[in-house]
Amino acid sequence: MKKEREEEKIRIATLLLENYSHNIFFNNCTNCGKLARTPNAKQCRFCGYDWR
Ligand SMILES: [Zn+2]
Repeated sequence: MKKEREEEKIRIATLLLENYSHNIFFNNCTNCGKLARTPNAKQCRFCGYDWR
């Protein structure tokens, strides 16, 4: 039974990841379009643009 619960957790995590992957993995600079350093970054490391 414990194993089943683990699998359910993984299934949900995968679903969440798929639903939010565009937010999590593609934090692009709105100025130059390049990928920011981290998902939560608010400043571009390439052009220095700040979108806070
Ligand atoms: Zn930029």
